[in-house]
Amino acid sequence: MHRYIGILGATGSIGQQALEIIAMHPERFKVGFLTAHKNAELLIQQALQFQPEKVVLTDKKAYETVKETLSAHAIEVLFGEEGLRKAIASSKIDLILVALVGFAGVLPTLYAIQQKKAIALANKEVLVVAGALVKEYLQHYQVPLLPVDSEHSAIYQCLVGEDKATVEKLVLTASGGPFRTFSKEALKKVTVQQALQHPNWQMGAKITVDSATLMNKALEVIEAYWLFDIPAHRIEVVIHPQSIVHSLVYFCDGSIKAQLGLPDMRVPIQYALGMAVRLPNQLPRYVFNGALTFEPPDLERFPSLNYAYEALERGGNYPCILNAANEIAVERFLKEEITFLDIYRLIEYCLNHVPYEQQCDIETLQQTDKETRIIAKQWKT
Ligand code: NAD
Ligand code: MG
Repeated sequence: MHRYIGILGATGSIGQQALEIIAMHPERFKVGFLTAHKNAELLIQQALQFQPEKVVLTDKKAYETVKETLSAHAIEVLFGEEGLRKAIASSKIDLILVALVGFAGVLPTLYAIQQKKAIALANKEVLVVAGALVKEYLQHYQVPLLPVDSEHSAIYQCLVGEDKATVEKLVLTASGGPFRTFSKEALKKVTVQQALQHPNWQMGAKITVDSATLMNKALEVIEAYWLFDIPAHRIEVVIHPQSIVHSLVYFCDGSIKAQLGLPDMRVPIQYALGMAVRLPNQLPRYVFNGALTFEPPDLERFPSLNYAYEALERGGNYPCILNAANEIAVERFLKEEITFLDIYRLIEYCLNHVPYEQQCDIETLQQTDKETRIIAKQWKT
């Protein structure tokens, strides 16, 4: 029996790698639907290769291009939020890979859970913003969620067969990004191009900048909190520049388990699409050669982790403010409107100026997200 997979964000870095994995296992996986924002050309290519039942575009012009090009094929071309809902709800779909980026993934993920689809989650911002709601939905609708993020996949794998009560702490590894060895002075002058040169991973622009500021690790601490139900003070971060050890779990008897491998997102993507069943593949293997090193994070040069622990302590809409402020800060940095270190200033400004709400439903979160974006766009250096 094939597992039918829907991919939200098929044209992105994770989406494309997921399709590579699906192509490696034609006996196991079929594509049910693919979605993209506006990359019509790539989505058409993917649709022709994988023959999904449906494709969805959220940009009107891209939608029209795809609709026209695929008119002779038995592929339904849909548009916008309505189209997304129709694709997500389609009865054939077994599992949905959420590979969107940012807040845009929140509503589709909640809807997919409501439709009782298993979730493979790459879009970490969904858990950062709406972790409490997502957990509530997963419990209510009895739906499994598998992490795609490499650190969380590693922890998930380390926890297989273990009693949660025996876990002492989780340790997320971080590469430290391209500026790991830069002084505070040097950080003042780094360029967009430098920030986009990640030493170990090829990823979308937003997460690459997040890796340079260490905001990515901050978001991942919050993600781990919701995924593994562990208090914030028992989630730690260690810098590991080689990105071979993907994360670690300490147990109550002094044992430490880790998951290792080359930095290749196709491995955790395959594990998630396989729903924690190990499938054989021919991907490159890691060969031990040279040192694996570890060092503590420097919170003075890279303050992001402080925001994460503060966000977990405060809860409510605070993580949502943090996420929206960061999304706009990264966007503005990429447009060269603000400098690298301004990213932290902008985030701190928003955390201090957007009204805090303790009780959050989805409407509150949407309101907070909107409000924060406005303030973040107006912020001046
Ligand atoms: P990306 O920018 O390469 O791709 C994003 C995808 O989402 C694209 O298909 C795009 O069309 C779609 N999209 C963007 N904005 C949209 C919107 N407003 N509405 C609908 N669709 C939209 O991003 P990525 O690097 O693949 O990352 C995806 C998610 O996975 C992020 O949350 C990221 O943090 C996480 N992640 C990525 C990697 C990686 O190696 N790339 C690793 C771990 C986690
Ligand atoms: Mg990660």
